[in-house]
Amino acid sequence: MCSGNNYFRRNIRLYPNKQMQKELDKLMDYDRYCWNKLLEYRKVDGLLGKEALEKFRKLRSIEGWHYEIPNYILSSVNKKLVEAITETSKINSRIKKNHINMPYQYLNFKTKKSKKHQSFIVPNDRYLDGSFKKKGKNYTFGIVLGRGSKVKSKYRMMQIAELPPGINTGDTEIASATILKICDAYYVSFCLKVIKSKHYDLAENIVVGIDPGIKSIMTLSTGRKFKIPKKLKKLYKRQKYYRSRVKKRFKKDSRIQSKRCLKTIAKYNKTSRQIFNLKEDWLHKITTKISRKFRLIKLEDCDPKDICIQYSYMKPKMKLVAWKHLETYIEYKVARCGGKFIRVSKYKASTQTCNHCGYRLDTDKKMRLSDRIFVCPMCGYIEDRDINAAKNIAKFN
Ligand SMILES: [Zn+2]
Repeated sequence: MCSGNNYFRRNIRLYPNKQMQKELDKLMDYDRYCWNKLLEYRKVDGLLGKEALEKFRKLRSIEGWHYEIPNYILSSVNKKLVEAITETSKINSRIKKNHINMPYQYLNFKTKKSKKHQSFIVPNDRYLDGSFKKKGKNYTFGIVLGRGSKVKSKYRMMQIAELPPGINTGDTEIASATILKICDAYYVSFCLKVIKSKHYDLAENIVVGIDPGIKSIMTLSTGRKFKIPKKLKKLYKRQKYYRSRVKKRFKKDSRIQSKRCLKTIAKYNKTSRQIFNLKEDWLHKITTKISRKFRLIKLEDCDPKDICIQYSYMKPKMKLVAWKHLETYIEYKVARCGGKFIRVSKYKASTQTCNHCGYRLDTDKKMRLSDRIFVCPMCGYIEDRDINAAKNIAKFN
């Protein structure tokens, strides 16, 4: 729904009270229920779109409880599913045509345990009064919740967030809003459409190559390194500790958990939230810095899975790096600033080649992960391993 270079997302934390939390949870549960039912119709009976909706409506008339929940959830889920199915079939046909060694894509059922799947989309006409109200300097945002008699009128329509002043200033327009739940915290995620894009003065013909790594997430061919923040590592350690505590105290058989267990779960959720926020913030900051500076950016196409297969002891470290996030962020930010982005294939062996004379190391003398300095046996060129790789990436066409 919101893809392309002219869109970006902004999340705002919500602080709903307990009654509101109940209502929001109900809507998220219903969203998941609709997705699973419609996907089941697709997989078992081969129904999609209008036919699937008709079958669902028959079911709804038998089970009365559906009428407590607003209608827009069903229609938005249906729209989302139709889009997802057409997209996956496109990808699968491309795989078939080109015989790429890639797994076929399937749509999955949603579970309550997953952190990703707790969300629902609020369509444009369901914002409070159909628009945003100005209150002082800030805009407020509200949605229409349930419509049944059980929902108190106080909660039927509710102002749930105050928007920061930068979000609706005329340069952007809100395309859609999604309510999310990540680690027990609620967010509203706005998809914003850029109407007027800012202009950045990019220096002519400055090419940069980026080598994604583990110790420093990016190494530029100019010699600059972006290291992973120390606080992130600390937080991962803390999360691991709390996970082990929860595992000890959690009783699988009983429905009621002890107070001590609930407290540690809350602490675990808090640290996971902190990790998520810190990581996103850091990634966004470094990617905007790069995309505003260079005209042509070349990035090596890297997959963490390959390294996990080769070096199994690196597996716990791989969650620190977020190469796919980095790639997508750079790609859309560069396009927004008027630059160009190129993916360099990982099979070009950028780490094994000398940047000075172009000599490629023999297969039995390959650089290992532990070798940090590149020494060329032909010309005697000495350089840091990552910088050498980044310079090679900048040279590739
Ligand atoms: Zn050399």
